Amino acid sequence: MRTVTLAAELTWTGKKFERGVTLTLDPKSGNVSALDRPAALPAKALRLPGRALLPGMVNAHSHSFQRVIRGRAESRTPDATRDSFWTWREQMYHAVLRLTPEDIYDASRMVFLEMALAGITAVGEFHYVHHTPEGRSYAEPLATAQAVAQAAREVGVRITVLFAGYARGGFRRDLHPAQLRFVTREPADLCARADAFSAAAARGNQDEAPLVRTGLAPHSLRAVSLSYATTLHAAAAARQWPLHIHVSEQPGENDEVVAEHGVTPTTVLSRANLLDSNLTAIHAVHLSDEEYALFGGAHANVCACPLTERNLGDGVVRADLLLARGASVALGTDSQIEIDLLAEARALESHLRLVRLERAALAPFGNPDPSALAARLLDCATDGGARALRLDPGAKRGDWFTVDLDDPALAGADETTLLPTLFFAGGRSAVRDVWIAGRPVVRDGAHPLRETIISRFTALQRRLWS
Ligand SMILES: [Zn+2]
Repeated sequence: MRTVTLAAELTWTGKKFERGVTLTLDPKSGNVSALDRPAALPAKALRLPGRALLPGMVNAHSHSFQRVIRGRAESRTPDATRDSFWTWREQMYHAVLRLTPEDIYDASRMVFLEMALAGITAVGEFHYVHHTPEGRSYAEPLATAQAVAQAAREVGVRITVLFAGYARGGFRRDLHPAQLRFVTREPADLCARADAFSAAAARGNQDEAPLVRTGLAPHSLRAVSLSYATTLHAAAAARQWPLHIHVSEQPGENDEVVAEHGVTPTTVLSRANLLDSNLTAIHAVHLSDEEYALFGGAHANVCACPLTERNLGDGVVRADLLLARGASVALGTDSQIEIDLLAEARALESHLRLVRLERAALAPFGNPDPSALAARLLDCATDGGARALRLDPGAKRGDWFTVDLDDPALAGADETTLLPTLFFAGGRSAVRDVWIAGRPVVRDGAHPLRETIISRFTALQRRLWS
């Protein structure tokens, strides 16, 4: 496959949109090989008039299979006095018990297609459905992880499969029957499976940059002991893999960790020296004042999933406090209730406005640039995610997408107002073209597998729910 030189009407060059820029992507390395400002456009350049080119967005937290319950958990649960994350989880568990590896493949392809069409070029898949519904290993022990990875390869998105460790229902709490599928009692066994997966991924096509990477993830301090989390932390560091963990999504989760450890999850992680720049805490909603500083001091990452956190009634990630203290903030689509990282970024800022009763909550002080706030949201949607997944920054990767300057939501924006217009009014419908690792994945809003993926997913939903 040959290099491609893109000549969009506007190209984001790190701090602003510029005209007359060409960007050359190399599918062999998967990276940008040149950014030029030629006096005249080269004949071979792919001209993209009416389009603006931006670095691909990184979705740092996804559970693909949860796509199957979209629209099926938005009403009152019979007999529940109060619906919450915990009643939603029962509905999610009801679905997870019925999925085969092939179903997980079909749901994952659906999710990754939606992501590609939305300008998301890399995803961190927090993968915890490892076994049969009875908790036994599949004949091919990596069946579900391979199903997810194969789905990403076919759609064409980069994926980091984060092998999630799950050992118990909670502190002094029995396993829920649905959790049998998640359980790996020994962290060494989880690492062995992740190593086998990583080795198999490396044996893939040697001619092109690989799309599949590996990471580790203690599910949460509710689902694993501190020593389990510590083992995975060391294993990830030794392999130079990212380490992710759910932290303080719900007050009830904090209560359980306090009952076991005497303090809340972030403080536990900090005291055990697990908070560092390789760690990404998913959610981190219910933190103490001191804990914001702990994240900042460790230069750790927090992945906010505002649309899921809003949908589940979790609370608001204080990205303002985290960023001010030096933490890095990424974004994730988590439960897949919506798949739109522009909307996630908008919600990150908007929720803070509602909490603080003021505007421009994440805008840097002393920067009069009208794009400064939107540039910060773009950083969360691109390089924040890249830091969380240990990917190269967006300017280097050959992952780019265009938006249509004539999209009804964006019409009339100029170079200085386009980024804030995109982040405060635009959505995935404005995304037209996507290149990932230098390869074309979406052109003019079309993906070659769209019809196949949708018909297979529709059949899966019919089978699951009728
Ligand atoms: Zn999650």
